[in-house]
Parts: sequence; C-alpha cells; structure tokens
Amino acid sequence: MNKLIYADNAATTPMSKSVLDAMMPYLTSEFGNPSSLHKAGATTKKALAEARETVCKYLGATHSDEIIFTSGGTEADNLALKGYMLGRSRKGNHIITTKIEHPAILDTCEFLEKCDFEVTYLDVDDKGLISLDDLKNAITPKTSLVSIMAANNEIGTIQPLKEIGEICRENGILFHTDAVQAIGHIAINVTEMNIDMLSLSGHKINGPKGAGVLYARRGLHLEPVIHGGGQEKNKRSGTENVANIIGIAKAIEDSVSNMDNHMTYVKGLRDRLVDGIMEIPYTHYTGHPEKRLGGTASFVFEAIEGEGLLLLLDMNGICCSTGSACATGSLDPSHVLMAIGLKHEVAHGSLRLTLGYQNTEEEVDYIIEKVKFAVDRLRQMSPVWEKLRDNVK
Ligand code: PLP
Repeated sequence: MNKLIYADNAATTPMSKSVLDAMMPYLTSEFGNPSSLHKAGATTKKALAEARETVCKYLGATHSDEIIFTSGGTEADNLALKGYMLGRSRKGNHIITTKIEHPAILDTCEFLEKCDFEVTYLDVDDKGLISLDDLKNAITPKTSLVSIMAANNEIGTIQPLKEIGEICRENGILFHTDAVQAIGHIAINVTEMNIDMLSLSGHKINGPKGAGVLYARRGLHLEPVIHGGGQEKNKRSGTENVANIIGIAKAIEDSVSNMDNHMTYVKGLRDRLVDGIMEIPYTHYTGHPEKRLGGTASFVFEAIEGEGLLLLLDMNGICCSTGSACATGSLDPSHVLMAIGLKHEVAHGSLRLTLGYQNTEEEVDYIIEKVKFAVDRLRQMSPVWEKLRDNVK
C-alpha cells in the first residue's frame, strides 16, 4: 500500500470538506470584526450568534449564552477549573477528579493545589472505570467541583456521566466533564446528564485546530483566565476567531448528526482490527471491553517497546501512537496505563490505533498484517521474549 494509513484519530482528525466550505467565507470575504459597529462587523456578529445557537442545540443546552468559544480543549478545561474555583460562586476549596485525566486537567489541578486548593484524584479499576462509591466517599462539605472526563484519550473507556451528574446534583456540587474525545462518539445531552460545564475541541471531530468550546450553565460565575476586551460575555477576551468558530460549530453539527451511522461503521472496523491483533500471543486489549469509544483499539504487547513498534509501523506508512511516553519526551510509562494497574515494563509496550469513518477494511487488514510483522520482528531482538516464547504453542 503506497498511501499513508491514518489510524491516529484520537490525536487529531483531517478537516472535512463541509467544515472547510463553511469556514471559507470567513477566511476570505467576511473578515469583519464582530465587535465593529459597521456592516462588515454585523455580518460576522450574526454568524457567531448562529454558531452559538448550533452548538447549544447539539449539546442539549438551553441558552446559547451558555456556549463560550475558546482556543481549544485545553483552554476550555483551564477556564472551567480555574474560572470556577477562582470565582465567587464556589462553596469550598476542594475538587474531585481522576488519575486518568488529560494533562489539561491534571496540570491545571496541580496549579490549583499550589494556590491552596485541595484535589482528590480518584482511582480507576483495571478497565479504566471510576467507582461511584469512591466518588460519593470523596465528597466533603468543602467539595465545590467534580471534573471527570467523558471518555479517555488513551484507552477509550467511557465513564457513567449520567450517574456522576446525579451524585453531583444531589450533593449540590458542580459537574464538569472533558468531552473532547467523546463528542460525536456517544450521545451527550448536558441537560439530561446534569452536566454543568463541558469542554470540547474542534480538531478531534474533523474540525479546525485551535478551536474549542466550554459549555457553562447559566448563572455560574467564571473568573476569566484571559483578560482584555470583554468578548464572550467577559469570560474569554480576545477578538473572536470567527472562521474557527464557524468551523467547530459545523464539526459539532456534523459529528452529532452523523454519529449513529459513523459509529456503526467504525465499530465494525475496530472489532475486525481487535480480532486480528489479539491473535498475537502475549497481547492485552486495554480499556473496557464494551464501555469504550467506537474507534479506539488500544493494546499492550509484552516484551515490546512501544516506540520501536511505532517506528516500524511508520516505516510501513501507518500513523498511530503509543501511550507509553508523555508529550514532554519523558520515559515514564503513561499515567493512564499505570492507573489501570499495568506493570511498568508491560505498559511500555503500548499501541493506540484510533480509527475514523475515513478508514477502510482494506486498511485495517494491512494494519493487522504489519503489526503482526513488527511485533514479531521486535520480539526476535528482545531478551524478555526469549523467556516468554517457550510458553507459546
Ligand atoms: N482533553 C482530552 C481528553 C484530549 O484528548 C485533548 C487532546 O488530545 C485535550 C483535552 C486538549 O484539546 P486541544 O488539543 O484542543 O487543546
């Protein structure tokens, strides 16, 4: 196969034509500043208002002023946690989150700890699920905010959002969820699920990079993280990135309205991929077997270094990723794989293949063939494998 096979859709996705078409006028002729009082400004102001209505509708929110446009998922997470905890409506100084959040949450929590906030990091089980009893037990009179991701970016495990929302509501605590990986993959309705704040990112759903949304229920006070001209109802200053906002709104509309079709197709591909790869001995499928994102196939191979595997697959034209080293180049195994209880040496042999609706069966079969070949080749060079292979029939 000559072309590149892209199986890293949890990292980012290609922009769809419908999103690009929607954005194009705002990258060319419609360039007015939405704050300007003339006609050019009025045009983009109207487009922004429509984008806000669209996002509001597809999230099941009630008021379009609950939608705040940001520069991405990271900023939305920062605004949710810092904005709420530093604002005047919080009850106490305690936050509950999990050990498997994205760094946009974990590092923000670490910063808040330096500012004298207290953070409880919930454990997860070996499939990546939190325990609702642990959550209930962690609540104290000082708990103001629970932030639990909708679906994990490394292993795809989906958390019980509705149940978490109910516990938070019963205890008068705010519930934020990072739904960056979940939107367009699972049904989300902020009203029905008692979600008070929710973060999204454009580039995971075939939209633009550098575009995000924070849904924040009406009446919440958020202290701005970025101060300035008072845009986004004073919650996020800076001239609006109109084209990106139009793009993320279109991406949300497309991904939510096509979700059922796309997910049926992608799950079929994912199951084919998993069946093929699980034929490799000493391989473990990580994450929850059922409560997981449709396109996410994540594994650990014993006696393998994930980086070596990635390089060999890249040489064969396959783009995918490993959860074994964080973005800063550290050699520590992934915090998610550690949290689900894997041993260090096993966690190093991780591989994440995340499929999208653009992938085909032919590509999946090619990936299976090349993963089998690469794992076999790397194991031939591994002293650890020498000890294991005698057990393989
Ligand atoms: N949250 C999760 C779960 C993610 O997977 C990501 C990106 O990988 C982010 C937040 C950050 O989003 P962005 O890249 O838009 O800043």
